[in-house]
Amino acid sequence: MSSTLNADLHCHSTISDGTLTPEALAERAKANGVALWALTDHDEIGGQQRAAAAAAALNLPYLTGVEISVTFIHQTVHIVGLGFDPDNEALQRGLLQTRGGRGQRAMEMAESLAKVGIHGAYEGALKYAGNHALISRTHFARFMVETGVCRETNEVFRKYLTEGKPGYVEHRWASLKDAVGWITAAGGVAVIAHPARYKFSANEEYALFSEFKAHGGQGVEVVTGSHTAAEYLSYADTAREFGLAASRGSDFHSPQESHTELGTLPPLPAKLTPVWDLLTDRIQNPAHQTPAASAATGR
Ligand code: AMP
Ligand code: MN
Ligand code: MN
Ligand code: MN
Repeated sequence: MSSTLNADLHCHSTISDGTLTPEALAERAKANGVALWALTDHDEIGGQQRAAAAAAALNLPYLTGVEISVTFIHQTVHIVGLGFDPDNEALQRGLLQTRGGRGQRAMEMAESLAKVGIHGAYEGALKYAGNHALISRTHFARFMVETGVCRETNEVFRKYLTEGKPGYVEHRWASLKDAVGWITAAGGVAVIAHPARYKFSANEEYALFSEFKAHGGQGVEVVTGSHTAAEYLSYADTAREFGLAASRGSDFHSPQESHTELGTLPPLPAKLTPVWDLLTDRIQNPAHQTPAASAATGR
């Protein structure tokens, strides 16, 4: 398939911390010209059936997706999984375990916020969580905008909920080895999400990529809503250096909050293997090939 395909392989629904349902996202993807879509909720694949069914009804090619929270060298790293079997039991167990600590963490976050005079944050955040098992910092941020503590969610993350700030609680997520292992054992491809977002030294980043590769990881997000144009190019180099396929995804969460709309990112830089080339047999509702197009490609 073409490396200029309008693939959007990273976004969130109400099943995690997005504000749109899987069905509304499918329609939005289709309307924006997305040609291959994946819903990648945090630590949760409960929206996969709905997303795949909505995509099928729209004739929109679809890959299963998830974004797993991992702790690597004391930092949180996100690993996207694509094209796995959602019925795989080891993957389901691993995700259940990964999201297991969120309730306790949320209560501790609320206690920490109460100490700086922000009360009722646990109940407030829970109101925004479509899936209570997936209560996240984003839901706290929405509550804090609603109550006027901050004007927008970005401001919340600048002043609260991040390391060294009120409301931050250290948390241990899955290991890199486990997350990559669950995805690949379920027949999927593991992808390092938005690598420019992590505050690693050059050595630590090298360790992340090397260990990821050693565990069977095969892709990296090059074009994402979290990267600048310069970062597209530098992570294109990293992808080539490590022999990783390149992915593309907006990380869209909400029409009100996200600065990158579904399906509107630039194409992948040249001379990369698109991650969808590793997943052609995993695509649901594949684009219809006309007999003429089949003849032209010799297939
Ligand atoms: P959690 O998994 O509970 O730690 O929440 C992580 C989520 O918070 C991310 O997936 C983003 O949706 C959101 N987030 C993290 N940092 C920021 C930021 N600086 N601005 C807006 N949203 C953020
Ligand atoms: Mn999120
Ligand atoms: Mn992420
Ligand atoms: Mn994401």
